[in-house]
Amino acid sequence: MASKLTGFMEIDRKNYDHRDIEERKKDFDSVDIPLSKDEMVSQANRCLDCGTSFCNWGCPLGNLIPDWNDLVYNGEWEKAYQKLSLTANFPEFTGRVCPALCEAACVLGVNREAVSVREIEQSIAEMAFENGWVKPRTPRVRTGMKVAVIGSGPSGLAVSDDLNALGHVVTIFEREENAGGLMRYGIPNYKLGKDIIERRIDLMKDSGIEFVNGIEIGKDEPLKELTVKYDAVVMACGTWVPRDISIPGRNLEGIHFAVDYLSQQTKRLFDEKIKGKEIIAKGKNVLVIGGGDTGADCVGTANRQGAKKVFQYEILPKPPEKRDDTMPWPLFPKLLKNTTAHEEGCEREWEISTKEFVGSNGKIESIKGVRVKWTKDADGRFVLNELKKTEFEEEIDLVLIAAGFLHTEHDTFVKEMNIELGERGDIFTDEDNKTNVDKVFAAGDMRTGQSLVVNAILEGKNTAKKVDEYLNKKMMKKSG
Ligand SMILES: Cc1cc2nc3c(=O)[nH]c(=O)nc-3n(C[C@H](O)[C@H](O)[C@H](O)COP(=O)(O)OP(=O)(O)OC[C@H]3O[C@@H](n4cnc5c(N)ncnc54)[C@H](O)[C@@H]3O)c2cc1C
Repeated sequence: MASKLTGFMEIDRKNYDHRDIEERKKDFDSVDIPLSKDEMVSQANRCLDCGTSFCNWGCPLGNLIPDWNDLVYNGEWEKAYQKLSLTANFPEFTGRVCPALCEAACVLGVNREAVSVREIEQSIAEMAFENGWVKPRTPRVRTGMKVAVIGSGPSGLAVSDDLNALGHVVTIFEREENAGGLMRYGIPNYKLGKDIIERRIDLMKDSGIEFVNGIEIGKDEPLKELTVKYDAVVMACGTWVPRDISIPGRNLEGIHFAVDYLSQQTKRLFDEKIKGKEIIAKGKNVLVIGGGDTGADCVGTANRQGAKKVFQYEILPKPPEKRDDTMPWPLFPKLLKNTTAHEEGCEREWEISTKEFVGSNGKIESIKGVRVKWTKDADGRFVLNELKKTEFEEEIDLVLIAAGFLHTEHDTFVKEMNIELGERGDIFTDEDNKTNVDKVFAAGDMRTGQSLVVNAILEGKNTAKKVDEYLNKKMMKKSG
């Protein structure tokens, strides 16, 4: 084995392998083939153990990455897990789906490939589950204070996990049949297996957290009711209002939002009830509008469903493959991402504007588009220019709109309780993550706008601290 001091010079980065493309397209199982334990030790050996560890700065949770890399290198996997769980509630999720902001800030990344931190995190988490080191965080004493959490995405799970560990009694209300939020109903099973989410939910139940699924607050039960029954309420409902593409033909059959499509596939896989008409890509020419991660998830899902051909159009320019001057180390660079879904077959185009959905008998049959170029005006603002004589038409039977999300839903309890909104339609809170309504806090995408699993977990942790302070003050008042 390479020495600890020179490991970074002697060992190249090695990533998890992936299952054969044709084989993995037949199912929704994980695409990853993890490296062996010895290979992971070797990858951890690439860590420089920097005095000023930028990976720790890059990670929103402040994960103590060099510390657990060193422990893995020394074969102390259990201690590595303990170190990791000091800052990370759910390393088995972030170890799979995090875009690894830490790796973008890794010092080795200045002139070599960064340490494979995300996969090391996943390996530590899996080793911990296999060996029974992950235990329910059951508190020794209960405070008697009751908290209702609305929404079971990563922010709702994190706020509940921490508040329960602090002794408060937590109930999570979720409108879907199962918990997990977009980790369950957005991210496909081949990226994040739903058994991984279930395993964590079981532990949380064992720690004393109550999960009430299939109840929509604001519809099945008013928020006001929760503020009467509970000492504090945390809203963690995400941003579920998608950005639309309002062009002629939008009302034709066969045009859907990405999350409606993706959530149906997870429900189909796990025999959950699908509301409304089924959306299936089998035998169809599919167009995914939006070049981001959600779009890539649609590409992977459509290919698994047996689509004839999959196109993915993005209106913005193709991102660079390497850092340029606009995104120097250690900032997180916006680079071209070739996901496993893209390897599976997809015609990708950038700088395309979709102008019209065309159809007959109420059904989509083709789309009209045009190539565009972005230029800067005198004030430095980006301007979209359509290029002459580049108009085209493509036969399409299914369109999936993956153009991002606007904000959280406003027509439910937000309206009922007159909850104050920020400029972009997110929930407005003070510095304690508290809304304008007494007892009511907000966390996650609902408060910050569309983000990442790791940021939602951080939101949950921060909100738990604020709610705990609030409840402690309340208890002090009660005890006089
Ligand atoms: C398709 C897709 C793929 C993504 N992939 C990645 C990825 O690979 N990596 C990454 O880091 N991030 C990814 N993200 C982003 C990430 O999933 C979100 O940022 C994160 O899940 C937000 O967490 P949250 O807890 O704030 O909200 P959510 O995960 O949206 O959870 C909110 C929960 O609240 C419930 N709810 C809403 N209203 C009510 C109500 N009235 N009553 C009861 N329950 C309610 C919802 O059903 C949902 O379960 C992806 C997002 C999408 C859409």
